[in-house]
Amino acid sequence: MNKIIPNGDVLISEKALKQRVHELGVQLTNDYHGKKLLLVSVLKGCVVFLADLMREISLPLEIDFMCVSSYGNSTTSNGSPIILKDLNQRIDDYDVLIVEDIIDSGNTLSYLYKELSRRNPNSLKICTLLDKPSRRTADIDADYVGFTIDDYFIVGYGLDYAEKFRNQKYISICQQN
Ligand code: IMP
Ligand code: MG
Repeated sequence: MNKIIPNGDVLISEKALKQRVHELGVQLTNDYHGKKLLLVSVLKGCVVFLADLMREISLPLEIDFMCVSSYGNSTTSNGSPIILKDLNQRIDDYDVLIVEDIIDSGNTLSYLYKELSRRNPNSLKICTLLDKPSRRTADIDADYVGFTIDDYFIVGYGLDYAEKFRNQKYISICQQN
């Protein structure tokens, strides 16, 4: 069986992450001035990015979390992911920004976007730290992207392999052996 281990190659350094997250925060501070901003994040991969990003946005804001099953393990009959934890609040008078760690196939996000749209927020946009456009199968794109990357499996800065490496301060490439 194939085993994947991080080979230690740094794809995005701690310094580069800090710089780019700061730039995104500046852009969001401009774009959401005067709005009622709610950051909605999908557990668990988003937590490191969210924690850093929210502190770079110089505006009043609120946060909330959702947890969605991976469709690989557990799917409904029509193939939609299942909401394991929903938002704690209504969103109909908020400008909602979905904060994601990475968009790969886009299936999770596409489902989430449709689900949140149905709840009639003032506006609904997507901010992702990482984008792997070459792997996209769903018709969805982010409004704010930290880094566009090639088709690597990566870990660190919230992203895991088998639940490990989320606490690594930089993003590195996993190698297939
Ligand atoms: P999607 O529905 O295929 O876009 O899946 C997105 C989710 O898969 C992300 O939120 C991550 O949790 C996970 N994922 C996708 N690519 C990677 C990767 O390179 N490393 C770690 N997790 C990943
Ligand atoms: Mg995720």
